[in-house]
Amino acid sequence: MKMVQLGINKYRFFLLLFVVIISFGISFFLLREEEIISVDLVGSEQQYLPLNSNYIDPGFKIMINDRVVDEKEYNYTVDNDINVKVLGDYELVYHINYNDEEFVLKRNISVVDTTKPVINVSKNPVEIYYCDKESNINLEYTAVDDYDGVITDKVEEIRENDRIILSVSDSSGNLTEVAVEITYTDEVPPIIELVGNEVVYLKKGAEYVEQGAYASDGCGKSIDEDIKISHNVDVNVPGEYEVIYEVSSSTGKTAIKKRTVVVYEYNGASTNPQQDDKVVYLTFDDGPGVYTEEILDILAKYNVKATFFVTNQFPKYIHLLSREAEEGHTVAVHTLTHKWSIYQSVETYMKDFNDMNDIVQKYTGKRTRLFRFPGGSSNTVSKKYASGVVSAISDRMTKDGYIYFDWNVDSEDAAGANKEQIYNNVISGMKSKKNAVVLMHDIKKHTAEALEDIINYGLANGYTFKALDEMSPTVHHPINN
Ligand SMILES: [Zn+2]
Repeated sequence: MKMVQLGINKYRFFLLLFVVIISFGISFFLLREEEIISVDLVGSEQQYLPLNSNYIDPGFKIMINDRVVDEKEYNYTVDNDINVKVLGDYELVYHINYNDEEFVLKRNISVVDTTKPVINVSKNPVEIYYCDKESNINLEYTAVDDYDGVITDKVEEIRENDRIILSVSDSSGNLTEVAVEITYTDEVPPIIELVGNEVVYLKKGAEYVEQGAYASDGCGKSIDEDIKISHNVDVNVPGEYEVIYEVSSSTGKTAIKKRTVVVYEYNGASTNPQQDDKVVYLTFDDGPGVYTEEILDILAKYNVKATFFVTNQFPKYIHLLSREAEEGHTVAVHTLTHKWSIYQSVETYMKDFNDMNDIVQKYTGKRTRLFRFPGGSSNTVSKKYASGVVSAISDRMTKDGYIYFDWNVDSEDAAGANKEQIYNNVISGMKSKKNAVVLMHDIKKHTAEALEDIINYGLANGYTFKALDEMSPTVHHPINN
């Protein structure tokens, strides 16, 4: 029985031993520290590298559980073909040997351009002439990109009000914008030019006729339509009045111009009652001709009397002798033909003179005793025809009761003076003479143009205009032949 019992106990013993051993094994297995190896990149798998910059590889690390494995414990190589000068994607491949095991890691590096292009403008702000506001502005600039190089031709210009926006993108889409401010040169005010004279003389009671004005803005564009004209002229009350012309350009620059209107009392003649006044004798030679009517109109407008030393050079106009006489001017003989050959002899001169005086009589109803030598009494051209002839003619004519007039103010209109020169010659001559006998020609355009200003000056400055008559002071040159 004991043996049987023992047999049973042996079986149990081994069973128990087996259980214990298994339990130990399981416990050991469960309780031992577990080793976990990880090999990972430091930093992200995709990295961006600005062009031309150095790549600093953050590397990788190997860990066993929480422990970083020391570099001495493994070997590695890196395949690296990054070209930091060329945009693109590059792969870094890490080959790592650790514990006889090979690990491979990969990382993508994108070399990118993040630098904006640079626009260099030669002038900012840029100043332009204000009249060129509407026209294109040529800016000088360059655009350079660190990767694309010179990209000036890719710059776009957008004109805003007072600036130009320059913009350019490089091939990577980096955008640069530069605003160029526009400044304008100072604007010139408009200019007003009066039609007619700045001083207008008006007989009391006569109608004031507005002649108007021209205006241009500072850029030369006509703005005639915008002129505002105002005046307080009372033609029934003698005095000085102002006509005001005002105009504004589109940008608000204004100009003002004034015209003076002198309303004067008409006392029957152009003479000034003051005896001491300076007298001006306007004389017109060589007509009647193409400008005679215009000159007569101006004289009539101011009621100024003058003297015409007439010819028959232009028969088409000869009828104007009548008008000259009717309007109170003196019609005197110059010459029928105005040819130097009349100086051949006293007789040839007298024939020419008398023929002209016949015409004067025909048109004016009376002969004249007044005359002017062609070329003046001092002319020397006559020497070519006859020696001493002017002297002989002078003696003969004086004996016959004729009176000749030279001049002491030469407008130089026959010598080609322009309007301003004629005006200046006459005005300065008038100023220096108590009795000015002014040589002009009613066949000269610039004479007609200058006349109104001359009269205006004279009337405004106390001169009296008179026609020559037999009582007038004679002005004689020395006779040279
Ligand atoms: Zn002449």
